[in-house]
Amino acid sequence: MTYKNYPMVSRVIYGRGSFNQLSDIIAPKRLNVKAPFIYLVDDVFKGNAWLTSRISLAYEDQLLFISADQEPTTSQVDDLVEQIILNHKDRPSGIIGIGGGTLLDLAKAVALMLTNKGESKDYQGWDLVKSPAIYHVGIPTISGTGAEVSRTTVLTGPERKLGINSDYTPFDQVILDPELTTGIPKDQWFYTGMDCFIHCVESLNGTYLNAFSQSYGEKAYELCKEIFMDDKGSQEEQQDKLMMASWHGGMSIAYSQVGVAHALSYGLGYLLGTRHGIGNCIVFDNLEEFYPEGVALFKKMKTLHGIQLPQGICSELGDDEFNIMIDVALGLEPLWENAIGKNWKQTITRDKLRSLYERM
Ligand code: NAD
Ligand code: ZN
Repeated sequence: MTYKNYPMVSRVIYGRGSFNQLSDIIAPKRLNVKAPFIYLVDDVFKGNAWLTSRISLAYEDQLLFISADQEPTTSQVDDLVEQIILNHKDRPSGIIGIGGGTLLDLAKAVALMLTNKGESKDYQGWDLVKSPAIYHVGIPTISGTGAEVSRTTVLTGPERKLGINSDYTPFDQVILDPELTTGIPKDQWFYTGMDCFIHCVESLNGTYLNAFSQSYGEKAYELCKEIFMDDKGSQEEQQDKLMMASWHGGMSIAYSQVGVAHALSYGLGYLLGTRHGIGNCIVFDNLEEFYPEGVALFKKMKTLHGIQLPQGICSELGDDEFNIMIDVALGLEPLWENAIGKNWKQTITRDKLRSLYERM
């Protein structure tokens, strides 16, 4: 047996208002005056001086507002990289992603692709990246995905929706400032928060489970229950807790895997563009047979917060479309192996997945 030797986020700062220290933190990482810091910022913050006034641009630093309406694609990453190379003589000193999972993943992918040849689609998979990324910093503004701590960046490519999983993917620096998670629409807060809850359920009920994953997963599960079931505590406490739940949920799947909800949700995302958080919720709502306890609790939380999930999103699809989603889902072998076990192919048939998708 050989064990995987995983890298982790090298540095993390935590605390309300810690975002104020961004400039001081990155200053020593500036390579020279021609090597800029590139900020990729969710365009929901455009015109929001409370946030943007704390980003100080020097020399050739550049701030790019990017919409999170669509999840990151490989061509978007390649375009950004090309734009950065064309606009700057020197390789950047660093990439700073500010936003949710979408912006964090973009920042990771751009940092990787500035030092690796070719197109980002060629690196979707496990351990295909050859060279270390440039310095990259992640600053979450919504909690749940665990993208701030994970060793993957999930991209939709021409052939599949799949992460670039590599030792070079994790951030060199993360700034956890729960104050930044203010002003999120309630539905989105729930969907992204549930991503964390689902990470825990899939990790804790997977065949890959071990004490490392369990310790993080149980903590995050507990925090999610406090946040979404008790609903007491001040808004500040809730923000603090969800930010740490996201971190722990991400750590839990580092040494295990996600499962059925994620596999099926990737199919929805690839074909219909359904975003990760809401897609996971739509799928998970139908997974009682795989995760009875977790799904029961999820339904309670949904009711408690008055969340109405879209229904019938697959009702108009034809055979070809179902087959595309089924292909994407079945391609995620490690997820099925974790969820069901080594012999997953005996029960997870195309018909089985079709009948699950038909319920959504
Ligand atoms: P997101 O980044 O897509 O953002 C969701 C919405 O919330 C957007 O409209 C965004 O503008 C808005 N938003 C973000 N912060 C806000 C704030 N402070 N105030 C108001 N609005 C705000 O959402 P997400 O759920 O965090 O990320 C989903 C993405 O993360 C998907 O692309 C998914 O594939 C990826 N993901 C990655 C990993 C990983 O390990 N790399 C894990 C899970 C999910
Ligand atoms: Zn997820």
